[in-house]
Amino acid sequence: MRFQSSFPLVWSLLAMAFVSEAYAHRVPFTGLRMPLEQLQAQVEKEPDSVALILGSGPTGLMSAHQLRKMNLFKTIILVGDRSEYTRTNTVTLRPESFPKLAELELDKALDSKFYFADDFHFFIHLPKDRKVIAESFPGNPKHIDYSQGNLLKVLDGPGWPHYAIKIADFESILAETISANKMVTFLKGSVQKILTETGKTKRHSLRLQFDDNGKQRTLDFINPKLILIAEGGGSKTREMMGIDYRPIPENETQHWCSGAVSLDGILDQSSMNSRITIVSHELTKTVAFGVFRNSENDLFLNGKMSEEESKTWTAEDCLRFNAFKILNEESGFMKMTLPESPAFLNVSDSVAGKFDVALNKASSFHSLENVFLIGDSAGNGSPIGGLGISLITSVYMDALKSLVEGLSRTSAPADVDKVISDYDARVRQIVEFWHFSLKK
Ligand SMILES: Cc1cc2nc3c(=O)[nH]c(=O)nc-3n(C[C@H](O)[C@H](O)[C@H](O)COP(=O)(O)OP(=O)(O)OC[C@H]3O[C@@H](n4cnc5c(N)ncnc54)[C@H](O)[C@@H]3O)c2cc1C
Repeated sequence: MRFQSSFPLVWSLLAMAFVSEAYAHRVPFTGLRMPLEQLQAQVEKEPDSVALILGSGPTGLMSAHQLRKMNLFKTIILVGDRSEYTRTNTVTLRPESFPKLAELELDKALDSKFYFADDFHFFIHLPKDRKVIAESFPGNPKHIDYSQGNLLKVLDGPGWPHYAIKIADFESILAETISANKMVTFLKGSVQKILTETGKTKRHSLRLQFDDNGKQRTLDFINPKLILIAEGGGSKTREMMGIDYRPIPENETQHWCSGAVSLDGILDQSSMNSRITIVSHELTKTVAFGVFRNSENDLFLNGKMSEEESKTWTAEDCLRFNAFKILNEESGFMKMTLPESPAFLNVSDSVAGKFDVALNKASSFHSLENVFLIGDSAGNGSPIGGLGISLITSVYMDALKSLVEGLSRTSAPADVDKVISDYDARVRQIVEFWHFSLKK
């Protein structure tokens, strides 16, 4: 099935060039903060003073910021392989993230980029009938009393997304904040080689390759205290370290699209509520979730396609089809003039894209005493509304904080083992929580 675009091609291409330009945030790599020889000497003489973070997506950036705030390392080296943040998918966040972002003093910097929802709807299609199981909440997470109830514990309850942000904005604001700090060296590169002497050491060593003003240079990390792998679900370093991972559910790849449809002529902007809407088949089989962004008069959405559909549909086909589903659900609540069919919806976000998500989880979340997996590298689940980023901006940062505090408090082998196994157990709980919601 293929829908006809109502945009003339030339306008789509022009719009794409314009929007891509506007959305492409350059990564503010710092380059070396000191001569390479001096940094290499510090890494060798004081391996406990340096933390290495591999991957500069949401998890790597949040982790660098969390470590910087803790002030337990002299140098934090953050490594990324992208030159630009271009992923414009808007991600929804659950309210539990808000206290952590405030604690880490990121809330103000991000504030102007957040879309706060006034309302929330979850349409769930159960086998027999269809009903709304969640409707309305005190939308702005700033106004929630976190001292009441268990909102801070993500694992305790369902919780609904309350706000959203374009992921490229999130990444670029974090990257700017982190780069401004002298303690952080932010390099463009990746791991070239694992140098660990198998069986002879309790810590991993590796060689990093990075760009130094156009020249490719290397830096060896021999037995550093902390290496965080935050390279996402397809992490190469995880594989190079021999850490096993397996697909969840077995062999399933999900196909999603991300982008926005215009609500011009469909919904009157002045009467529009900013709302987050989820459409789900059965309790947790989300098929589409969207944000009605009243500032842009559009519906930003992430929508799912079947294996078959993904072979022939463009991102635009997928967006129109899923947006139509959401609009149909909402038409009784919002005063809308719905088009007759998805084909008449205009895809307004021309950086719309298709994503294949290969769900997997690692079998262990640490390796020896100094390598730890975090974020999607530990286990990446489905883009079900508001989980990946919500976990990274709440429970993952707490787990990291406890790990680093624990490792810096003690060097007694039994205590170190306990700190590591506590981290492993907590990350397992987080990953299982995400995957459990997939299996049901
Ligand atoms: C369509 C879609 C919609 C989503 N919607 C939501 C949502 O609404 N809410 C939500 O909370 N979550 C959502 N998610 C999930 C969320 O995007 C992820 O959980 C999150 O991006 C994971 O962050 P990460 O940093 O762990 O991994 P990634 O985002 O994958 O980042 C990893 C980073 O590491 C870099 N990297 C990889 N390999 C290397 C290497 N060898 N060397 C150096 N760098 C490397 C990559 O370039 C990247 O910058 C969605 C995901 C998708 C695909």
